[in-house]
Amino acid sequence: MVNTVNFKLDKFFLRFVNTDYDIIVAGAGIAGMIAATSASIYSHHNLKILVIDRNPQPIAGKKTLTGWVCGDAVGKNSVDYMTNRIGIQWGKPEIEHPVKGVVAYSPDHGTSIYFDGDGYILNRRLLPQKQFNDAVKVGVEFQWEVALRSVYAEDGFVKGVIGTYLKDNSVFKKTAKVVIDGAGVTSVLRTNLPIKSYIQRTIDRDDLEATGRYILEFEPASDDKTYFDPDYAIIHLDQIIAPGGYAWVFPKSDCKVNIGLGVQQKSMDIRNKTLGKKEDLKMLIDNYVKINPVIRNPKIADGIADEGNGWGTWQVSVRRQNDCMVGNGYMIVGDAAWMPKPLDAGGIGPAIIAAVIAGKDAVQAIEANDTSERGLWNYNVDFVND
Ligand SMILES: Cc1cc2nc3c(=O)[nH]c(=O)nc-3n(C[C@H](O)[C@H](O)[C@H](O)COP(=O)(O)OP(=O)(O)OC[C@H]3O[C@@H](n4cnc5c(N)ncnc54)[C@H](O)[C@@H]3O)c2cc1C
Repeated sequence: MVNTVNFKLDKFFLRFVNTDYDIIVAGAGIAGMIAATSASIYSHHNLKILVIDRNPQPIAGKKTLTGWVCGDAVGKNSVDYMTNRIGIQWGKPEIEHPVKGVVAYSPDHGTSIYFDGDGYILNRRLLPQKQFNDAVKVGVEFQWEVALRSVYAEDGFVKGVIGTYLKDNSVFKKTAKVVIDGAGVTSVLRTNLPIKSYIQRTIDRDDLEATGRYILEFEPASDDKTYFDPDYAIIHLDQIIAPGGYAWVFPKSDCKVNIGLGVQQKSMDIRNKTLGKKEDLKMLIDNYVKINPVIRNPKIADGIADEGNGWGTWQVSVRRQNDCMVGNGYMIVGDAAWMPKPLDAGGIGPAIIAAVIAGKDAVQAIEANDTSERGLWNYNVDFVND
């Protein structure tokens, strides 16, 4: 009886707690911007929402110093999921090239497995600008050039974020009823989460792939569709070329390609030891480009649409998503929650779906005046279901 009264009082007072924002989203990546936009749309633009990123606005979505590093491929079904629920549509130029599906080849290219289903090769450099405009149109606010250091917590609840203004190193601190962490695979908010929670803070090293890719323009030198196919995203399974991972050739036009590979460090060490070599990720990628008979005179794409994004390396998780994705006042989405699928490291689709749901479930929790772990729990269930 006493507990019930306390719980009702807690909910009553929560309603009157003054925070700078209703929702703060950490990270203006693909997941963060969709989560913020979704929350604004589900709340009928009634909530105050802030997205924070360390990048300046013109290079929004840049993951790391070497660029918007990604294979850029996503299934149409995931984009449709977003469009059907929150009305956001993507087209040209952020969708750079359509494909009919994915095809995986055995090492000798003799066996192929087709996964048919429409998909897109995105332009990850341009997409964030479209996402930014969509978010601003529904009232989302942005704070650029702030490096977040941690969430700010009190009484076992996340109550905001703390960071540093990059322009002068002064302290940044803002409060919110819910913080949605979309700060990517290396999120410091998740790693340093100071509240009691089921959320796993760190990832097993073997569950991280080291990956890299080029975006290249080239003169097509042959018609071998097992090496380049303008209609299919090609995956090469080969433990010499990509130990513990796979290599890919994703078409961006008839003469432009996103080409790269991912490796598991442990498998890479075994491969090098077995072959008596000392090759690293970059050497494997350069060799993979060189042996492709279709790609002649490759040139790193450097037009406005690809500026600063022609070559890059980063990491991607290949495990199930975090066992729990909510804590008191806190949710994680996208790579911050290790959402890329273990089979193919595709993280864009899960990030889109989770971000739409995270926005909806954050709004529901705020409207119900219960942003505790229990109040946000639906997000765990809804993500698994969808
Ligand atoms: C080489 C490579 C190839 C891939 N290929 C594919 C593919 O073909 N298809 C696919 O579906 N997936 C692919 N993925 C995975 C996909 O890129 C990710 O799943 C996706 O980008 C995740 O988006 P996100 O918004 O969660 O994180 P991110 O894109 O990493 O965005 C995180 C954002 O948070 C910001 N941020 C981070 N830390 C801070 C901080 N402390 N303070 C302030 N801001 C911060 C960053 O600036 C960034 O804007 C690939 C990944 C790699 C590395």
